[in-house]
Amino acid sequence: MAVFILKGGNQWYLIKMLALNNTAIKLLFLTEQNLYIPDLTAIVWSNLDYLGWIHPSGTLGYVVFESPVDGRLRGVKLTRTRGSESGRVRMEMCSWCHYVHRAQGTAFFMIEVKGSDGRRKLGNPICKDLDCSYRVRGPWSSTSLMSEDLYQPARIWRMKLAMHRWLGKANQI
Ligand SMILES: [Zn+2]
Repeated sequence: MAVFILKGGNQWYLIKMLALNNTAIKLLFLTEQNLYIPDLTAIVWSNLDYLGWIHPSGTLGYVVFESPVDGRLRGVKLTRTRGSESGRVRMEMCSWCHYVHRAQGTAFFMIEVKGSDGRRKLGNPICKDLDCSYRVRGPWSSTSLMSEDLYQPARIWRMKLAMHRWLGKANQI
């Protein structure tokens, strides 16, 4: 997965995410009963900072990332609810990548706080398909409704920081 390297003063660079196979992903979700793994052959790993996907039911999301604590892979399960279905045109910003979507571009994801026995959950609006990397890295970034001048390494860094903070609050990093 992506690793930050300090190079040339304050500039951060990223090494591409290491490709994962089905076995590696299954090991991260050993207690998950109905784990669904997408077609991994279609994934361009060098474009990713984390791997996120949605269960065909539409109500579960999965994120695999490298922990900033020990560098090991972690897998977390999220529950997904769609945004407002009122049909009103409104902009929505992803809390991780700061991409500003038209309506229905984000969904509300909940994560269980580890150690709370399911009593505590945290929620966040995130790109509805858990595909932030394509927006901070790829050509999609220019289609945000709110353009910004932040250069790409800074966008990637900010996204990872937001993701790690949220997962950290849930004791999941
Ligand atoms: Zn996003």
